[in-house]
Amino acid sequence: MGCFIAAFLFLSPQVLNSTVMKLQAVKGTFDILPEEQSKWRFVYEVAQRVLEHAGVQELSPPIFEHSEVFTKSVGESADLVVQKEMYSFTDLGGRSLTLRPEFTAGVMRAFIEHGMQMCPSPIKLWSRGPAFRAEKPQKGRYRQFHQINCEILGLKHALVDAEAIALLYQIFSELGLKNLLVKLGSVGDPPDRKAYNQYLREQLGQVQDKLSEVSRERLKLNPMRVLDSKDEGDQAIVRELKRPLDFIGAEARAHFEEVKSYLRNWDIPFEIDDSIVRGLDYYNRTAFEFHHGDIGSQSALCGGGRYDGLVENMGGPKTPGVGWAFGIERVLLALEQDRAELPTQQRLALFLIPMDDEAVAEVAKFALGLRQRFSVEHAYTRRNPGKGLKEADRAGAVFAALRGSKEREAGSYQLKHLASGEQITVSQTQLADFLAARL
Ligand code: AMP
Repeated sequence: MGCFIAAFLFLSPQVLNSTVMKLQAVKGTFDILPEEQSKWRFVYEVAQRVLEHAGVQELSPPIFEHSEVFTKSVGESADLVVQKEMYSFTDLGGRSLTLRPEFTAGVMRAFIEHGMQMCPSPIKLWSRGPAFRAEKPQKGRYRQFHQINCEILGLKHALVDAEAIALLYQIFSELGLKNLLVKLGSVGDPPDRKAYNQYLREQLGQVQDKLSEVSRERLKLNPMRVLDSKDEGDQAIVRELKRPLDFIGAEARAHFEEVKSYLRNWDIPFEIDDSIVRGLDYYNRTAFEFHHGDIGSQSALCGGGRYDGLVENMGGPKTPGVGWAFGIERVLLALEQDRAELPTQQRLALFLIPMDDEAVAEVAKFALGLRQRFSVEHAYTRRNPGKGLKEADRAGAVFAALRGSKEREAGSYQLKHLASGEQITVSQTQLADFLAARL
């Protein structure tokens, strides 16, 4: 540290300025500070419990993959590809690698690589961690964000679609989210999708020059994505058109009806969104989103759906699947809006204060033992009682314990409950049990 500061002293003010300017988190990324960690942990804990109680096992794919894993799976026409939203780079071996923009592709690659189709169906996998998209940052939209992702593979049955939605609903309910809106739709089977895309090409082709630039691009590659446009002009045009649900065939419709009847039977409220389309090309049949009314324009907490052709597209065996991913940042924003009670940082149980030099080593050793049961901190040099107690208070400790020559002779600590001011002398051997009884 000393050398580090010395090196800075030799830099000119201009260099120093530019150096300091650069030492900031990259735009669209952020630090999760110590005082925020308990909220994040809460989300992970609830999700993990709900998912693992339903037999969903955790799989952690690497943060980066060969770029083809993503380009092959998301489809050439996906926004991620079209709008160059992927963070791709060439490594020293000349290979193109990409930081994951989402989890599904990596999980499917792992599923195929490890021959998981041999496991009994359904195979349920969940993942957590950061994902990266080079999008324009705004509230609720970041370049590094965090997702919890779930995939259920191996069964085509509508019960699986409903279960995926129910798991998500349970996680959000247990987190304390209110004001939730579950939007449900179906994009049909591939021939239905094809027919609808053809219809859109014909209809939108006639008004091409009235569409926004992004929508014109989407029209060329994947017309269904025009329905997702936020542009008001596009929306006015789209409102006059038929919906994906008008095009779905008999089998997809029956499947959709079954999903709905399970959800009704389980008292999961939802509304039909007849224009729902997912951003990636691999979806078929069920598509859903969970929205929150109060978090602004980026209201989608989660997106998901069925993707029966994906594993096969990626070179694996024919395997149906359903999945979803939710963004933790947006869920935390929504929880704040709902004024949900979130766990706060765990308090330090005890702060030890050495009052002479000999006590410094004594309290440090005592702390090592106590830490097997409690969170314990100590001052690293001798302190007078007033200063030591202030430090204990600043550290957020519940108790402080003072040790000086008098306490050494008696084999004890002077314990103080910082909130009430209550003081008591406790023998060193009984201090752990005392704390256990009082905390
Ligand atoms: P998607 O994979 O685009 O369906 O996204 C699934 C969920 O991830 C969304 O509903 C958001 O909650 C979250 N998400 C996606 N992109 C971002 C982003 N750039 N920043 C923050 N959260 C995001």
